[in-house]
Amino acid sequence: MTKILHRTIGTKLPTAVTGQGIYITDSEGRSYIDGSGGAAVSCLGHNHPEVLDAMKAQMGRISYAHTSFFTTDIAERLAEQLVALAPKGLDYVYLVSGGSEAVEAALKLARQYFVEIGQPQRRHIIARRQSYHGNTIGALATGGNAWRREQFKPILPETHHVSPCYAYRDMQEGESLEAYAERLAAELEAKVIELGADKVMAFVAEPVVGATLGAVGPVADYFARVRKICDKYGILLILDEVMCGMGRTGTIFAVEQEGIVPDLVTIAKGLGGGYQPIGAVMLSNKIYRAFADGSGLFQHGHTYIGHPIAAAAASRVIEILTRPEMMANVVKMGERLQAGLDATLGQSPYVGDIRGRGLFRGIEIVADKDTKQPFDPARKINSRIKMEAMHRGLMCYPMRGTIDGIHGDHVLLAPPYIIRPDQIDLIVERLGDAIRAAV
Ligand code: PLP
Repeated sequence: MTKILHRTIGTKLPTAVTGQGIYITDSEGRSYIDGSGGAAVSCLGHNHPEVLDAMKAQMGRISYAHTSFFTTDIAERLAEQLVALAPKGLDYVYLVSGGSEAVEAALKLARQYFVEIGQPQRRHIIARRQSYHGNTIGALATGGNAWRREQFKPILPETHHVSPCYAYRDMQEGESLEAYAERLAAELEAKVIELGADKVMAFVAEPVVGATLGAVGPVADYFARVRKICDKYGILLILDEVMCGMGRTGTIFAVEQEGIVPDLVTIAKGLGGGYQPIGAVMLSNKIYRAFADGSGLFQHGHTYIGHPIAAAAASRVIEILTRPEMMANVVKMGERLQAGLDATLGQSPYVGDIRGRGLFRGIEIVADKDTKQPFDPARKINSRIKMEAMHRGLMCYPMRGTIDGIHGDHVLLAPPYIIRPDQIDLIVERLGDAIRAAV
């Protein structure tokens, strides 16, 4: 009997024993294509010899040095690599151990920034419905996934939510993309005014929504409009790239495709590639200066921030990610994946939408394609797809979203960037069979 409190109690999970490239093999000798990179984590696949070497080398030097006593050359190097890659203006890095921690740190950086500059009345956080920012209390409060929040609502701090940018469901008949982006921007501005323009601290959003909607990107100019509103009212823009960042969408930062620079960006998952738990917040010079010229202390900190072995893994992951062939493969294989899914599932009466960027693709499952009505939650379509896919040797990431209060089923694909064309075709074939078997 297991002594672990697993995510789903009573489900017999296979035991993962080895990982190699895009495959995980279990104790019964069955192998699975890691079509979702776990939860969009394993961007370089498993057992990458260069990342293992970097970790081993660091272990032979120093494994841990508390950040109140020391910095390390490897953490400093990682920060320099990140700053060199980030959109211009994001000049500093705060290292953490994962995605939720990154979001919590970003929220606290935003709050303390306003205290430092003499605007302590700014306290409201605005985020979007159908978003996920992590499972800790502050991050959960910020996220808008109703299902994940429901039972914890009474203990969550107050936050505010506006509509996501979700063209498949929310664009009105006859509405242009421009008018849609404008309508969403107007909704955000109205919310700011309702809360009091000088009381809003931050707007938080995922550039491409992952764990709640399944790879839903913004329409053109949406983020440019959001940036303008934040600037107009002095609000910090926090973009959460924990899932969609680190090359997942075909550029190292997803926001590069939006032509704006946020004030803070959170990253994790692909940063450590699954080799070590690590995340980071990238922050603008303006925020850094407020702290440096003010109290000189960010009142935060966890025991494992800047962990040398995690930093070594991330530093090597970045070195590999930034080789020119890597992003080229993400774009090319992403297009092949989209084309394969369109050809295999596009005509299915149960597939409402297939979307995404790079190697970050989502499939929305519906009971009725015309009305976009989701399946009855009691049918547990997302769990069935996952089970059918696992039987066929494929890991995909089905998830339960909420579509304005109603249940929604999505499947997320996020395979490693090293994937080959024949392996993409296998994912498409196995997922097509799994979805047909499950609905
Ligand atoms: N933010 C986003 C956008 C995420 O997708 C996730 C996890 O899926 C998180 C934050 C939380 O990250 P973690 O699970 O590493 O705490």
